[in-house]
Amino acid sequence: MPRPIPRWLLAAILLSTLACRPDGGAGPTIRADYPSIVVITIDTLRADHLGCYGYFRDTSPTIDALAAESLFFTNAVTTMATTLPAHLSLWTSRIPLELGVTKNGWKVFKRDGGESQTRLFAEMLRDLGYTTAAFVSANPVKSYTGLDAGFDLYDQPLSGEGKKKRRGELTNQVVLKWLDSQPLEPFFLWVHFFDPHRPYAPPKPFDTAFADSPELQDFLKTRPTIDREWPAVVNFHNKYDGEILYVDTEIKKLLQALKEKQLYDDLVLVLTSDHGEGLGERGRFGHGEIHNEQLLVPLMIKYPSKMGLNGQRIDSLVSLTDVVPTLVATLDLDLPTDDLEQFGGVNVLSSRARDPYVFVQRSTAGARSWGDADKFALVGDKWKFSYDTRLGDVLVDLETDPHEMQNLITEHPEVAEELKDRLLEMIAEYSSSERGLEVLEVTSPEVLEELRALGYIQ
Ligand SMILES: [Zn+2]
Repeated sequence: MPRPIPRWLLAAILLSTLACRPDGGAGPTIRADYPSIVVITIDTLRADHLGCYGYFRDTSPTIDALAAESLFFTNAVTTMATTLPAHLSLWTSRIPLELGVTKNGWKVFKRDGGESQTRLFAEMLRDLGYTTAAFVSANPVKSYTGLDAGFDLYDQPLSGEGKKKRRGELTNQVVLKWLDSQPLEPFFLWVHFFDPHRPYAPPKPFDTAFADSPELQDFLKTRPTIDREWPAVVNFHNKYDGEILYVDTEIKKLLQALKEKQLYDDLVLVLTSDHGEGLGERGRFGHGEIHNEQLLVPLMIKYPSKMGLNGQRIDSLVSLTDVVPTLVATLDLDLPTDDLEQFGGVNVLSSRARDPYVFVQRSTAGARSWGDADKFALVGDKWKFSYDTRLGDVLVDLETDPHEMQNLITEHPEVAEELKDRLLEMIAEYSSSERGLEVLEVTSPEVLEELRALGYIQ
């Protein structure tokens, strides 16, 4: 069957007849060769529970196949294991401390009139002429946060029981309906799934997809910080994996729809997560801390095949802050200098080396405040230095000790000292950054109740 005229071409023809905005200014420059961009973030998805990252269970056949035909990153780290700050890092290429957003439940305002005009990726893309749409699945990224900036359409859970969150299939239904409406190309589509987040309670038949087995016990033996005698450990591993398989089937539906509409081959598709999840390590479930099971996320970028970038695997350390700069550079997006200067991350495919360490931070209690219970870390390919204002400093060698069992502070004092100096400098610099966003505590009883129901506040 001959391929129909691409809608981006029709859009370009149409826009060429609309030379001026109503205010008489020049219209946006829409380059006909800009591809549509789809970003899927799967909340709370730790990388090592996916087949493509070596997991022993078949939790992710769709994601594994996508990884095989993408630019695939094996060592990607978030900036904070907390939903709103991590997503803001993704969309602004800045870290939470300098943005001043270090927990969930804040409303974010851009600064007006100041030197800083930190913008979200959707705002940049809309100025380039992209049609922008987001479909999110849970409270921490609903529009009250300000994450809706730059989106023509921002769809979120609205009513009834599902107001604080919704299942992947409900989000997907609205996404597929939107795709049926033939949005003008190029479009920027963000789909946020929330299913692997606690409580781990996958729908049938995914609730029984995985059960205790000798293989699971063998796997748990490779996780020395987990107490295998703790009954919740086996149950939560089975249910968490069921949630992943469930969301994998929803992603399959979404990719199929893009293929049926003959959009898939020419678009850029990013799949990642905002953070991982503790599954019993050090006696804890959940996220918000700075251990690697909560920091390592899946990351893959499928480019149009004609660009010749797919099928590569990158093992060096990358950060969520590198995603947007990489897209901007590889797609040659014509952004203003101010936007380009905003990026703290780098194009990981360029010869310019990224900082060998990613700055991470525990979720905090207040904006730009840190004190007795705060934790920061520099995560590198080999060394990870953690600065815990209450429990003291920790240096681990991730190459030989990926589960962070052994503190090597006394064995390598010079490494620890250098990294601590660097970390403290970064804290000071980021705390006074001009790139901050104005933030406001959310006081809406309704929003607070949703956050409480999701376990974010007591
Ligand atoms: Zn999250």
